[in-house]
Amino acid sequence: MNLNEFQAKELFLRFGLTVPNGKVAWSVDEAVAVAESFREPKVVVKAQVLTGGRGKAGGVKLADTLDGVRKAAGEILGMKIKDFTVKKVLVEEQMKIEKEMYLSFIHDRDNRGYRMIFSEQGGVEIEELARVSPEKVLMVNIEPFPGLVPFQLREVLAELSAENKKHFRGIYQTMMNLYKLFIEKDATLAEINPLVITADGKCIACDGKVSVDNNALYRNKDLEGYRLPEDENPLEREAREKNLNYVKLDGGNIGCLVNGAGLAMTTMDVIKHFGGEPANFLDLGGGAKAEHVKNALKIIVNDEDVSTIFINIFGGIVRCDFVAEGIINARKELDIKKNMVIRLLGTNDTIAYEMLEKENISVFQGMTDAARKAVELSKL
Ligand code: GDP
Ligand code: MN
Repeated sequence: MNLNEFQAKELFLRFGLTVPNGKVAWSVDEAVAVAESFREPKVVVKAQVLTGGRGKAGGVKLADTLDGVRKAAGEILGMKIKDFTVKKVLVEEQMKIEKEMYLSFIHDRDNRGYRMIFSEQGGVEIEELARVSPEKVLMVNIEPFPGLVPFQLREVLAELSAENKKHFRGIYQTMMNLYKLFIEKDATLAEINPLVITADGKCIACDGKVSVDNNALYRNKDLEGYRLPEDENPLEREAREKNLNYVKLDGGNIGCLVNGAGLAMTTMDVIKHFGGEPANFLDLGGGAKAEHVKNALKIIVNDEDVSTIFINIFGGIVRCDFVAEGIINARKELDIKKNMVIRLLGTNDTIAYEMLEKENISVFQGMTDAARKAVELSKL
């Protein structure tokens, strides 16, 4: 799960990091009210969307008066940044930026540990900086045990340029605190870019990006409320709540309902092979019951992009008769107007075929024939 900047900054505060004074707003009036609550209406208005590069897209604007805030918030709210529509803005007091640095912690699979990335030149895209001047990007490998050790930071900070040496303590403390957050919240990424040094020598997280591991959310209950409806595709949300592994894809019109991630991937490949376009990835998981199948079918039926539904089930642990029951129930409840191609093979398939035959639903046994048919129907 990716957090919005304002949520990341809430976490930062809890872990002792310094962030600008600010508040999130869902409307222009609210944004103005936030600015009014500050000593001066000198603020920065920032789009809150789960994607980067907002600055370049015009999603970060400075304003020095309340009218300016009204204008900036009006321009940013409703703006589209890489497919995300901006529904809320963060209004923060402006900082007097002296320097912009970069700091992040990520998982490092190659070394089976974590990695800290630091640069005295932040504010820019770190990938780009690493490409053009790799010597300016410092990396520290961290062993999960014992974790980040003070001497590692002293070693990195010994490299600070002479002018930045005086910020040693502030940067050191920021690194330690961000690392603590990264570990305790089971983050896969914790990034501050830019990490700002202000004119009066303070070390402040100007921007924040945090991604947390969904599989660890059960022990980070405080983060549950951070998943906001407007940040998530509604179909993906429903699928998640129903324990389905579902990913919506752009541009396709064949809705796939499959059991097993491997078969789900293969199904998309086969559709592509015959010239069709899948509308989604959907893995029912093992041992699905009729109700589960019905829930999955509901999500695909409700996807407006889908013209043809392709059900591809191999009954290993899943029983084909349960799948048939789910399909039959869904048809009764949902008034499905879309084409439906079903391939069903495996445990209890003869029972399933009988059930479906009674309902005049035809079934394929071979995946190739079924996929061909689905692609053909999707082009009508
Ligand atoms: P991003 O483009 O999505 O990464 O958004 P950031 O929050 O990193 O902001 C982009 C840039 O806006 C920063 O690198 C700063 O140069 C500038 N910026 C952000 N907040 C302030 C501020 O309070 N004062 C000033 N002067 N510039 C700011
Ligand atoms: Mn940034």
